Amino acid sequence: MPDRSIVWFRRDLRVADQPTFLAAADSDEVLALFVLDPALIAPSGGARLTFLYGCLRELSAALGDRLLVVEGDPVDVVPRVAEAVSASVVHVAADFGPYGAKRDEGVEKALADAGRELHRIGSPYAVAPGRVVKSDGDPFKVFSPFRRAWADHGWRDPADTSAATVTWMDPSDKDGGPRAVRVPDDVAVDAELPEPGERAARAAWRDFLDIVDEYGDTRDRPDRPGTSRMSQYLKYGCIHPRTILADLAQRRSESANTYRTEIAWREFYADILFQRPDSARRNYDRSFDALPVATGKEADAAFEAWKEGRTGFPIVDAGMRQLRAEAWMHNRVRMIVASFLVKDLHLPWWWGARHFMQLLVDGDLASNQHGWQWTAGSGTDASPYFRVFNPITQGERFDPNGDYVRKYVPELRGIEGKAVHQPWKVGVPEGYPEPMVDHKAERQEALDRYEQVKNAR
Ligand code: FAD
Repeated sequence: MPDRSIVWFRRDLRVADQPTFLAAADSDEVLALFVLDPALIAPSGGARLTFLYGCLRELSAALGDRLLVVEGDPVDVVPRVAEAVSASVVHVAADFGPYGAKRDEGVEKALADAGRELHRIGSPYAVAPGRVVKSDGDPFKVFSPFRRAWADHGWRDPADTSAATVTWMDPSDKDGGPRAVRVPDDVAVDAELPEPGERAARAAWRDFLDIVDEYGDTRDRPDRPGTSRMSQYLKYGCIHPRTILADLAQRRSESANTYRTEIAWREFYADILFQRPDSARRNYDRSFDALPVATGKEADAAFEAWKEGRTGFPIVDAGMRQLRAEAWMHNRVRMIVASFLVKDLHLPWWWGARHFMQLLVDGDLASNQHGWQWTAGSGTDASPYFRVFNPITQGERFDPNGDYVRKYVPELRGIEGKAVHQPWKVGVPEGYPEPMVDHKAERQEALDRYEQVKNAR
């Protein structure tokens, strides 16, 4: 009987820089496995599912069509697959999210009961959550010292792997166990999605390296292609941040350093979620529980207008329509629309976060919930609550010619230049709404509500 092990892919859908392959290389035969877990599939929006399925098809092809896909609760199906192929070890990249960590504990126990092992090697991060701690062993709660300690901690060089690193087992040799299924068909979505998979990730990264040295100047401009658009590839592990950081290390520019800092934000939020899993659903700063939020029919109607991009504030509407059109939104505009939802409409941040998670192709629990909480003022390093984004001046500053707004809001295409950020000054075109709120008044209302948070401290 050949010695067999399993590589169970989750958020690491690639063959390059893949530590699980190195761990599995001693086995005579290795089974490549992916589990369609209903608990993760159900809450993923169509964009993420379609992207995931594309990644799986590409991964399977890279492995010579040797990816076994099964459906079910991993705690049940992974041990059954291991038994069917007589694998002694299941290699995984560790998952630190609230659901994934608990699921893995269950799988580990079920495997151990049958004398098998779950072996964790690597993670979706350069430095695994929980590793970077203060000198007294406590976790960081503020980004800048985390980033410094994270850089000092350092990370491994990319692992030298390819599909040929191990000998893949033909999944049809599996005798019994859960039924193999096809990778599902794409889910119909209106959004135009990025090309899925490892090859596309590498091509996108190579293209971005041509402009990385200008990143510091262009990253805040939604009207320009100045950011890397790597987020969905990082989310699904089509490329590992270690690979990205190794390339950045060859660059001396300030912009490359700025980009490294963005990767550090991703790692910081993963660390925060690991330390405080409750922050996915609740205020990280619990004194914000005292903030009065809008409820009832009016709140529902305001939420609908925000979701549809019909608030009457052009930069907000452009962002919300970009989200629908591309399942992605520029970071600057994510902050503007989030601030508008929380501080102009007084709606709970988790309503907005849930909508983002339904539509975003890069929707990631740690980055999304904490990005929202940062804007809402209830998170780590929160921008001070009294700093309320003005959607007009933000638009004029970061979309100075109005090109971004005109691209996504066709009703406003007749207004030239930055005047598009205040259409009411030149006459709101037919079909486009008047501003749904008075920003100045709602800003004051937000500050008044905030008094209750201060009183709760
Ligand atoms: P780039 O500017 O090229 O940045 C490079 C990479 O750094 C990104 O791909 C991402 O992995 C990481 N990064 C950059 N900014 C941040 C940040 N603020 N927090 C964490 N990581 C960051 N990012 C997600 O990946 N998934 C989300 O669900 C998500 N939701 C967000 C919600 C809100 C309200 C806000 C304000 C931000 C959110 N972000 C999220 C962070 C950021 O907006 C996106 O990572 C970025 O826009 C992705 O585009 P890019 O790859 O071109 O970014």
